[in-house]
Amino acid sequence: MSAKTNPYDVMVLGAGIVGVSSALELQSRGIATILVDQQSPGLGASFGNSGVIQREAVMPYAMPRDFKTLFTTLMGQNTAARLHLTALPGLLPFFARYWWYSSQENHRKQATSYATLIERCVDAYEHQISGTGAKQYLKPQGILAGFRDDKSFRAAKDEAEYAASHFGIKTSYLENETAIQQAIPHIKNIFSGMVRYHDSITVSDPHALLTELFKKFKILGGEFAKANAFALARAGETYSLIGDSDLVTAKHAVIALGAHAPELTRKFGLKIPMGIKRGYHVHFEQDPQAPLEATFADEKYGFVLTPKAEGIRLTTGAEFAGLLAAPTPKQLEQVIPIAQKLHPLGARIEKTPWMGLRPCMPDMLPIISNMPGHDNLWCAFGHGHQGLTLGPITGVLIADLVMGQQPSIDLAPFAASRFS
Ligand SMILES: Cc1cc2nc3c(=O)[nH]c(=O)nc-3n(C[C@H](O)[C@H](O)[C@H](O)COP(=O)(O)OP(=O)(O)OC[C@H]3O[C@@H](n4cnc5c(N)ncnc54)[C@H](O)[C@@H]3O)c2cc1C
Repeated sequence: MSAKTNPYDVMVLGAGIVGVSSALELQSRGIATILVDQQSPGLGASFGNSGVIQREAVMPYAMPRDFKTLFTTLMGQNTAARLHLTALPGLLPFFARYWWYSSQENHRKQATSYATLIERCVDAYEHQISGTGAKQYLKPQGILAGFRDDKSFRAAKDEAEYAASHFGIKTSYLENETAIQQAIPHIKNIFSGMVRYHDSITVSDPHALLTELFKKFKILGGEFAKANAFALARAGETYSLIGDSDLVTAKHAVIALGAHAPELTRKFGLKIPMGIKRGYHVHFEQDPQAPLEATFADEKYGFVLTPKAEGIRLTTGAEFAGLLAAPTPKQLEQVIPIAQKLHPLGARIEKTPWMGLRPCMPDMLPIISNMPGHDNLWCAFGHGHQGLTLGPITGVLIADLVMGQQPSIDLAPFAASRFS
C-alpha cells in the first residue's frame, strides 16, 4: 500500500462483484480508491454463482405464496427452498415483509423499480470490461427455464409475457420435444415446456471475470488491503480501519459486504432486515459424447445446470439458515440424481460443495444510497439473486453518488432510509 495516497478519497469495503465494480468505477473517474476485504477478491457469493448476467430478470425473485410450497418447505420436502427451523424466529420479520411484497400487485410495482437497474446491466458490463480480457468469458446465448407440467408452464408463460410486454424482454417458448432438443440436444424428454430468454448472457467463469475487473482497477492505480471491515470507525472528517499493517483512512467509505453488510450497518445505527439465501454448487465432468452447451433451470426442483470452465456446474435454490450455521447441502444431494436423469453428467469433480450467501432484501430491491445520518458513508448491498448481474451498474451509480453527480436513474426506491 502506498503511503502517498493514504488518506484515500474512498475506501470500498468488500471485494465481491459489487465492491470491485464500485472501486473500479471510482478509480476510473480519477478518485483515489482502496478496496478492502478480509480475503482475496471474489471469494464470497460472487465466486460460485450460476454465472448468468440476467438481463431477463426484471421481475425480482418473489416469495412463493401458495400453501403447498410453503408447507413442503416447512416440512423439508422442497428442494427449491429449505429452511433451518432454528433460524425461523430470527427470520420472521424478513418473511413477513417478503410475503407482503410478493403479492402480484406489490411484486409488479417493485419490478418497475428493479427493471430500471436490470435494463442497464449489459451496458454497464460493456463499459467496465472495456480494455480487459473479460469478453472471452461472456456467452450471449440466452438461458432456458424448464417446467415439468402444463400448469406451471402456462403460469411461467404468463409471467414472461408480462415481462415482454411491459419491459421489452425477448422471450420465446419451446413447447414440444423437438424444439427442446434443438436447444439442448442431449436432454431427456421430461419438460412440458421451456421459456427461452434471449438477452441473458452466461459467464463461463465468474471469478475470472471479476479478476479481470480487479486487474483493471489496479492498473488504473487502485489499491487493495486485507482487513476486517467491521473495525471501520469515524474520526472527524475521515473513516479509518487497520489494514494489513497500516492504518487506512479515507474521506468516504462504501459498504459492499454482501450478506455481511448488516453486521456493519448495525454499528452505525441501521438495522437491515436482510434474509440470507444460501446456495451450493458442485461440478461434473462434461460427457464428451453428450456435452451441455446451454444454461437451463429446472424450476420444479430449483436447480440450474450450466457449462463452466471447471465442467458442468449444478447450482441449487435457496436455503435459509443462521449466518454462521455450518453448510448443510441436503438440497444439492437431493437434486443430483434428478439432474443426472435429465441430462448426461460425467464424474462429480468436488466432494465438498461450495456454498455462497445471497444477500436478499424483503422488498427485493438492493440498497444503493447514502447511509442515513452519516456523511460520506454509502451502501451498496442486498442484490439477492442478481448480484452478478447488477455489480457494474451499482458501481456506476455509487460513483455518481460519491461524486455528487446526478445518477442516471431515480435511486429513491433503493434508499437505505426505507429501513431507518
Ligand atoms: C448458488 C448461487 C447462484 C447465483 N446465481 C446468480 C446468477 O446467475 N446471476 C446473478 O446475477 N447472481 C447470482 N447469484 C447472486 C450473486 O452471486 C450475489 O448476489 C453476488 O455475488 C453478491 O455480490 P456482493 O459483492 O454483494 O457479495 P459477495 O460476493 O459475497 O462479496 C462480499 C465480500 O465481503 C467480504 N467480507 C465479508 N465480511 C467482511 C469483513 N468483516 N471484512 C472484510 N471483508 C468482508 C467477503 O470476503 C466478500 O469478498 C447467485 C448466488 C448463489 C449463491
